Amino acid sequence: MRMAKLGRLMPPGLLQMIEPLRLAIIGEVLAGQYVLRDMQRLCKLLHDNCGEVSYRLEFRRHEKERFFCITGVIRANLHAVCQRCLDGMEVYINNEVYLGIVRDRSEAAGLPAGYEPLLVGDEPVSLRELLEDELLLAMPMSPMHDPEHCPATGILAGLKERAETSPFAKLKELAQKVRY
Ligand SMILES: [Zn+2]
Repeated sequence: MRMAKLGRLMPPGLLQMIEPLRLAIIGEVLAGQYVLRDMQRLCKLLHDNCGEVSYRLEFRRHEKERFFCITGVIRANLHAVCQRCLDGMEVYINNEVYLGIVRDRSEAAGLPAGYEPLLVGDEPVSLRELLEDELLLAMPMSPMHDPEHCPATGILAGLKERAETSPFAKLKELAQKVRY
């Protein structure tokens, strides 16, 4: 039986440069948290920078195929911008990670379905940026409140009603009657 490793807890707030291939060879598990405000590229798309990101990543050799991979989960609670009212709305991301560690395009092409390539060179990569990239891909394209909870629903309904009962609408009606 394969025991689940608890994971090495990473100290928060650091850039944390990692070598994915080396970690996969030794079978390392990393877990930890970031505050969302440390992820500026992501924050630019959000209503505000409040929220946290937690992750647990297993670096290992794939059981059947001959490649190294990173599997695990990234979770984040954040405030996206509702595309209807432009106010903040809570979004919870619970994203499973399936990355194949590759050194070039031909290795990437050989990955089985379901694995995204993570291209690595000789330089270490930033764990934070790796997680941020995954979150950017996992963000909903066009987040919106449910209509019954969106402040814009009432405002839009009010505007429509006002447009229909405004003096201008009556004037327009009158003008049309005169013309025909
Ligand atoms: Zn809304």
